[in-house]
Amino acid sequence: MFVPRSLKIKRNSNDDLKSCVGKKSKPEAEDLQLDRDGDIPAHASVTKEAVSADRPGSASSPLPSPSSQLAEACLVGPEQGVKDSFPSEEPVKSFSKTQRWAEPGEPVCVVCGRYGEYICDKTDEDVCSLECKAKHLLQVKEEEESLKASSPQRAASQPESPLDAFYVYKEHPFIVTLREDQIETLKQQLGISVQGQEVARPIVDFEHCGFPETLNQNLKKSGYEVPTPIQMQMIPVGLLGRDILASADTGSGKTAAFLLPVIIRALFEDKTPSALILTPTRELAIQIEKQAKELMSGLPRMKTVLLVGGLPLPPQLHRLRQHVKVIIATPGRLLDIIKQSAVSLGGIKIVVVDEDKKLFKPPVLVFVDCRLGADLLSEAVQKVTGLNSTSIHSEKSQVERRDILKGLLEGDYEVVVSTGVLGRGLDLVNVKLVVNFDMPSSMDEYVHQVGRVGRLGQNGTAITFINNNSKRLFWDVAKRVKPTGSILPPQLLNSPYLHEQKRKEQQKDKQTQSNLVTGANLMDIIRKHEKSNSQK
Ligand code: AMP
Repeated sequence: MFVPRSLKIKRNSNDDLKSCVGKKSKPEAEDLQLDRDGDIPAHASVTKEAVSADRPGSASSPLPSPSSQLAEACLVGPEQGVKDSFPSEEPVKSFSKTQRWAEPGEPVCVVCGRYGEYICDKTDEDVCSLECKAKHLLQVKEEEESLKASSPQRAASQPESPLDAFYVYKEHPFIVTLREDQIETLKQQLGISVQGQEVARPIVDFEHCGFPETLNQNLKKSGYEVPTPIQMQMIPVGLLGRDILASADTGSGKTAAFLLPVIIRALFEDKTPSALILTPTRELAIQIEKQAKELMSGLPRMKTVLLVGGLPLPPQLHRLRQHVKVIIATPGRLLDIIKQSAVSLGGIKIVVVDEDKKLFKPPVLVFVDCRLGADLLSEAVQKVTGLNSTSIHSEKSQVERRDILKGLLEGDYEVVVSTGVLGRGLDLVNVKLVVNFDMPSSMDEYVHQVGRVGRLGQNGTAITFINNNSKRLFWDVAKRVKPTGSILPPQLLNSPYLHEQKRKEQQKDKQTQSNLVTGANLMDIIRKHEKSNSQK
């Protein structure tokens, strides 16, 4: 079986179906056929045993023969077109070279790196074509055989996917025998600090978790020999199902620290989906999915879906319907899906607070100096971060501008990129961050733009990008911003332009000072005046 991410062929005629059934019986077509409705039934499994139970006698296929390709195209039933809402007329790709390259965020073929349009049901990996599916299955078979050869004892004593009916985390005897003071010293040495009641002791080896052998092997394959400190402490706590709020440096292994308990929970849960991972950006979501797939490889019925912005929704929705266990999503895209109510999120409960909006960050208002800049930056923000972004400028109609403003106030947009049109007067109370991506040409304009945050006594933040194009404003900006306690970059404070402007201003002040009448210079001024009068 070979599961497409999106539908391949819509067929309505019984004749077609009949003619295909004949081809279905061809042995070489059997293993490469499309699943009838594109769905994997709940009982279907990616383990070898389950597949062979479903289809006695089925064997891994070599590269597809032309007849098998024909059979695949014919085996899509009529119900498929009815069930899904985004049929495609394209046939299943047979060869890797006919597949396109993946866009950022799209699944990637595990064999050749092109667009992973299909899911190999035996391994749950993404593949681009029948050719790569066959290569992939061969690779897997070879790996399994070499694993068996290298550990004949385990191969003889254990089935390939030794999953107990359920998993309960128990402290390993080695951890249990440690004294409390030894645990404290260990934590101190590793910089682990913990709050909370009856927090589980850290593990010091992945073997202490009692993971299924496949997962242990995946950890080794990923180069995870020993857990990092955040993993030592978080994994047992997560495996016990406790809530965790954790903080550790970038690159310290936080992702695996939460992924491993999530994987174990999802593995022993029947519900799909059973885990939702929310991340602020698309890039992070992609990274997490990659790591999750590495760790889940070979575990039965473990599929992931990426729900992220900037990419078409239908393929993501389709994948979501394939009994995925773990969802990795950005909030904006997840909200779109919830709003459409197109999909049941199974056992996952999502609390929607006040029409979704209070769950998410207040919008960011970005100022640029031209219309094209506003459109381009808004597009780039949407594409790169997956945030819901729009632009507003004088080329948009009054109605469009009004709608955008309404959307901004109601939290529909996470980012609005504007030219000066939004710079003045409006009370955008929910904006907490202004970014002056282009420094405006005058201090007056700058003050108005920055003033869009912190309205009505609220706190707000402004981030200003400034370069030598605005050098004549350096000293004015410094004078204005410094008293607010804001941090000014040394490049600005040390700029020769700033010092020159400061010097000129001080000189001018001096000049003005000398023209003023004070007690000290009063007599001098009178004498000067008398002298010039007497000369006349
Ligand atoms: P993270 O902090 O989760 O982004 O992880 C940083 C990097 O460390 C990633 O490339 C992980 O694959 C890797 N990593 C995570 N845990 C371990 C571990 N226990 N041993 C070796 N590498 C790890």
